[in-house]
Amino acid sequence: MGWLVQDDIPTRKVPPMCGIIGYIGHQDAQEVILDGLRRMEYRGYDSAGIAIESEGRLTVAKKAGKLANLVSELEGHAIPSSSHGIGHTRWATHGGPTDENAHPHLAQSGRVALVHNGIIENFASLRDELIAEGIDFHSETDTEVASQLLGLEVEKQNSLLEAMRVVCNRLEGAFTLVAIDSEDDSSVVA
Ligand code: GLU
Repeated sequence: MGWLVQDDIPTRKVPPMCGIIGYIGHQDAQEVILDGLRRMEYRGYDSAGIAIESEGRLTVAKKAGKLANLVSELEGHAIPSSSHGIGHTRWATHGGPTDENAHPHLAQSGRVALVHNGIIENFASLRDELIAEGIDFHSETDTEVASQLLGLEVEKQNSLLEAMRVVCNRLEGAFTLVAIDSEDDSSVVA
């Protein structure tokens, strides 16, 4: 048996972990969210995205690769100014690191946008059920089942918070979700 002195302790290798952020307030959401994503870059990620709500509409921008790719996308195609939004740095588990698979994901209605950290283990059966109900999927992620379920549920509940409660009860796995509703500019639900 030997003793480890401080210098012998190897650098701890932290597994990559996505970054997830929501903002509502008086500042520019895009600025706050990009700054938050920059601070979480050290965790490791393969793509990044942002969704903001402005005047009852959601706008999403997302890009595979470094945050700099998202920033240049936003320089080329400015999104409306807003003080309400969500952002994400992804570490892919389901579906490759592509623009389509990057978060946020929208519901088919376009009413809600959602970001997700973790894994939804029962996504395959939920996806089949949603496809049978006429939902078209635009990504290979497990995450999109949550955004699609949330989009359907928010129409029934007319409350993002209540809809999130119902949807979380249907999901199995270890996950964190953050979402915004284009019809409610007063909340971010996590
Ligand atoms: N499982 C999700 C995906 O593959 C989320 C991964 C993450 O936590 O970044 O998109």
